[in-house]
Amino acid sequence: KGDPRLEAISAAIRVVPDFPKKGIMFQDITTLLLDHKAFKHTIDIFVERYKDMQISAVAGKPLFLQCFVIKVLHANDCLCIGVEARGFMFGPSIALAIGAKFVPLRKPGKLPGKVISESYELEYGHDRLEMHVDAVEPRERVIIIDDLVATGGTLSAAISLMESQGAEVVECACVIGLPEVKGQHKLEGKPLYVLVEPS
Ligand code: AMP
Repeated sequence: KGDPRLEAISAAIRVVPDFPKKGIMFQDITTLLLDHKAFKHTIDIFVERYKDMQISAVAGKPLFLQCFVIKVLHANDCLCIGVEARGFMFGPSIALAIGAKFVPLRKPGKLPGKVISESYELEYGHDRLEMHVDAVEPRERVIIIDDLVATGGTLSAAISLMESQGAEVVECACVIGLPEVKGQHKLEGKPLYVLVEPS
């Protein structure tokens, strides 16, 4: 906090009322992607935080969801996992910058290999998340990154996927945190790092 880059990031996120349904204040990060400076600030802040954590992978998730799981194996071994759609917009850049691999978390039926899946609730619905079983290995240390945390249901599903494979989730990181929803309580004690909170 106190980082002037955060103001540019906040200002670049468009809020669309009543999308995809009435009552939802939709935080639209596509306008952040259009703003090169703000987009770069977003990636830079995550990279600065995770570059020296021996991260081995980043993961991302399906539409309206996005997360990257970054796993720390041992020194200089990195993994980032991202959640489809919006996860895929931030995850690979971070993974490349920190020397990590990128692992996609996807909607059901999209991944061709053997998968494990986990269901989760959204602020506005339910869905399932899938991951290739061989994407992470036991004892790998992982960080999960998403565009937004609301209820924390999506991040919890991503945590369960990682832990079911024996990986250790070190931290969850999001561009946006909706303070009123208190997703932190759902994250099973995992630390949460959030860049901006809507005012
Ligand atoms: P949750 O599982 O409740 O923490 O919701 C997280 C996911 O749902 C995020 O990855 C977002 O993509 C999406 N989401 C939930 N609420 C909103 C919102 N108000 N604006 C934009 N995306 C949202």
